[in-house]
Amino acid sequence: MIENARLAVIDLTYLISAVGLIFGLRRLSAPRTARSGNQIVAGALLLALLVTLLDPAIHWRLPNILIMVLGVGIGAVVSIYIARIVPMTAMPQMVALFNGMGGGTAALVSVAEFYRYASEGSLSTGELVSVAFGTTIGSIALTGSLIAFAKLQELMTGRPVRFPLQLPINVAAFVGIVVLWVWLLGFTSAVAEWLLFALALIFGVLLVLPVGGADMPVVISVLNSMTGLAAAAAGFVVGNQILVIAGALVGASGSLLTVLMSRAMNRSLANVLFGAFQAARRGTATAEAKPIREATVEDVAVLMAYANEVIIVPGYGLAVAQAQHQTAELAAELERRGVEVKFAIHPVAGRMPGHMNVLLAEANVPYDKLYEMEQINEEFQRADVALVVGANDVVNPAARSDPGSPIYGMPILNVDQARNVIVIKRSMRPGFAGIENELFHMPQTRMLFGDAKEVLARLIEAVKAA
Ligand code: NDP
Repeated sequence: MIENARLAVIDLTYLISAVGLIFGLRRLSAPRTARSGNQIVAGALLLALLVTLLDPAIHWRLPNILIMVLGVGIGAVVSIYIARIVPMTAMPQMVALFNGMGGGTAALVSVAEFYRYASEGSLSTGELVSVAFGTTIGSIALTGSLIAFAKLQELMTGRPVRFPLQLPINVAAFVGIVVLWVWLLGFTSAVAEWLLFALALIFGVLLVLPVGGADMPVVISVLNSMTGLAAAAAGFVVGNQILVIAGALVGASGSLLTVLMSRAMNRSLANVLFGAFQAARRGTATAEAKPIREATVEDVAVLMAYANEVIIVPGYGLAVAQAQHQTAELAAELERRGVEVKFAIHPVAGRMPGHMNVLLAEANVPYDKLYEMEQINEEFQRADVALVVGANDVVNPAARSDPGSPIYGMPILNVDQARNVIVIKRSMRPGFAGIENELFHMPQTRMLFGDAKEVLARLIEAVKAA
């Protein structure tokens, strides 16, 4: 009787928690509501975690209590610490790392449950499929995410890694996984389960090694949705609804994000994952030194102070320099002088989806001044000045004109169509994709070299004096 009441409370609380997850996720879709969305999701998960402690399946013995306290305690302390110290620019690798932990957990739960069921002598085909799925996808997500972390943290090369017989080896690993599935499902073999676990770990490494450069965020999103699916499978195995729902939500939102990001780069997912296997793409970097024109802060200040319309294009360099407040202040100063100022936000500017929106929101730039690429691209031809602050790849015309370029086909901001282009960066070094940018050599472009924060501070003073 009491047990039934307990189960009813758990189910009801899970339902409330699931609704919280859905509402919270919904709010993540706009910068204005994202913070509260995040809090709702965290609250919903905490609620689910607490009510799970009522589950009659938990044996309150000292070793179990110790494992739970240590697991939750260590996890909470480490993740709160990392989340607090990580700079915004290192967010993708942090997401990759946390995501990998989720995948690894789902895989380990699947292995453990395989043994529990096997010892009880009752493993239905459905449960076996869930075990095999959770083991495979969770393990791939674990090692794939660790490689993604190592690449983005520059612990290893960020470029695609190629080696002899790579494609046949990857195909063989995939076929091996299929064979192990058949073995596991047909014979409920513990050897097959362990081999599947090991081979899937190796396959995760093989899958992410050939991906590099600007494709990494898409891969992280794929791995993220895999972790969600692995968690959902683990939920089926342990018979926990909230794990199934939360996993499915992560899986679905990760898949949608993957589609959106692939679309923003105008690439198919297959091309992102297997692009390195195609004939090596021709690089666009050229050794010859092409002319550039440099501007002074005073020239640029006069140009902008007397312009009708200025479009500011923020990029990764703005984030590195933490120049969002100076950017906002410059915009406000120009507006005080009657200049119309707009911000052009490229979907993959910076190092994570929504990176620029978050930074500019931090500096209180009104949302109605932020324009997405499709909204603003026509506008560049009417703008007097396009001010590029630490952006490079997202304004590279090679994406439109050079079929040999690694970023060919990615939609870019049409900065080159503005009457005057001012680029703030520290040197002629390339951006994330490692390629040269023709924009910097065009006749309407002038370079303003220096750290974005420091240059903008001087620019603000010069505009005030203009
Ligand atoms: P890029 O990485 O192409 O270029 C950034 C530029 O900023 C560099 O050329 C650098 O030049 C300059 N810079 C760096 N530090 C400073 C500083 N302190 N002051 C001024 N300038 C600085 O950035 P974009 O935003 O144009 O493009 C983003 C790239 O990242 C794309 O290729 C995208 O695909 C990729 N990516 C996007 C993710 C996302 O989800 N948004 C995630 C991961 C990758 P210099 O060194 O000369 O100063």
